[in-house]
Amino acid sequence: MAVETVVATPGVDDPWLNAQRQFDAAADVLHLDPGIRAILREPQRELSVNFPVRMDDGSVEVFRGYRVQHNVNRGPAKGGIRFHPQVTLNEVRALSMWMTWKCAVAGIPFGGAKGGVIVDPGRLSRDELERLTRRYATEISLLIGADRDIPAPDVNTTPQVMAWIMDTVSMSEGYSIPAVVTGKPLSVGGSEGRNAATGRGCAMVAHRVCGRLGLDPHRLTVAVQGFGNVGSIAATLMAEDGFSIRAVSDAFGGIHSEGALDIPALVEHTRRTGSVVGFPGTRAVSNAELLELPVDVLVPAALESQITAANAGRVRATLVLEGANGPTTPDAEEILVRRGATVVPDIVTNAGGVIVSYFEWVQDLQSFFWTGSEINDRLERILTRAFDSSWDASERLGVPLRLGAYAVAVQRVADATRDRGIFP
Ligand code: NAD
Repeated sequence: MAVETVVATPGVDDPWLNAQRQFDAAADVLHLDPGIRAILREPQRELSVNFPVRMDDGSVEVFRGYRVQHNVNRGPAKGGIRFHPQVTLNEVRALSMWMTWKCAVAGIPFGGAKGGVIVDPGRLSRDELERLTRRYATEISLLIGADRDIPAPDVNTTPQVMAWIMDTVSMSEGYSIPAVVTGKPLSVGGSEGRNAATGRGCAMVAHRVCGRLGLDPHRLTVAVQGFGNVGSIAATLMAEDGFSIRAVSDAFGGIHSEGALDIPALVEHTRRTGSVVGFPGTRAVSNAELLELPVDVLVPAALESQITAANAGRVRATLVLEGANGPTTPDAEEILVRRGATVVPDIVTNAGGVIVSYFEWVQDLQSFFWTGSEINDRLERILTRAFDSSWDASERLGVPLRLGAYAVAVQRVADATRDRGIFP
């Protein structure tokens, strides 16, 4: 079966090449049918848009954005939208493929997608950000829709941004369509627990993996890279569970303490100053240094390709929990695993976000809303099942945990692809 091949930009830390390498490893382990392998190795649909935005000073700027649907065989496409100056098509492709596997390993009925706009939102006014969001939403409305493709927050996109997307799509249809996007504010059909869900899921997975490894959280020190939605909530809940958070960082730099950081006070400091930097009683560290600190657990929760072949040999943590998508390159992972470290892959560690997005979508479609404790109980059940099935597959196949999780996920998508058949 012939398919068109997407030519990825060369580069060892290119996320798309890395995503395909991770998929190839799983396809090998599963002895995947060559036709199915060829289908799953490429994104199904890619939309590039260049669109104008009127700036506050009256000038017009043109921005580039993307929406990629990797696979929709198990259900509508699902995946966040990122606003960042370094967004590339290859990054969005990788993120969309990871979404496919994440939804599959979690057993929720979605395919994978992702979107992004090349922009530094920090230099836009609120009005400019709203106009950019609404125009981008209109451009990608060719693809998105409550039954087709449902965006969510990612780096630098917030519940407010999701509300603007929901409103934009609703205005063009003439009636409110809350289920077109998740991660919305509660006032417009958001779900209890969605904002904290990814970080909460990370903390649940941290607890679970410690149980499997026979480790006591109270005896473990932690460094967290990225102190946004995922990193700050994971740090808060892991600290409540007994982990000693010793270092955190954000785009402006990092801080390290010899004792446990007071995370609620740090959250307040970050809210007030815009960064973790300068938190009293700590010393400054760079993001590169943070990854190499003498801690037991490392939680990369910022961007992809942070732990690479160049620095993996100096990472001292024996447990890496991937809060971010794609923070560890395949070469780096080989180095870590050879040293005996456990890497809990992104598709499991940060799946809490999409699991509660699924709950939000279901609640919106039914116009019937659940309580916070119902949400968190159901999240824990689904995430625990995803973690356990990944762990069990890795033991059964004698492969690292990522490959175990991929074996579960890729097999499910392959089964759906085979059962649906090739149209026409
Ligand atoms: P966010 O915008 O809320 O926070 C990102 C954090 O990373 C900020 O603290 C920022 O300062 C920091 N950062 C940015 N560039 C950095 C750099 N070069 N070095 C160190 N820190 C840097 O974003 P988020 O939603 O927390 O997403 C973080 C990661 O988690 C991303 O990989 C995202 O794809 C993934 N993720 C997010 C969700 C979600 O629900 N928000 C779900 C699953 C996965």
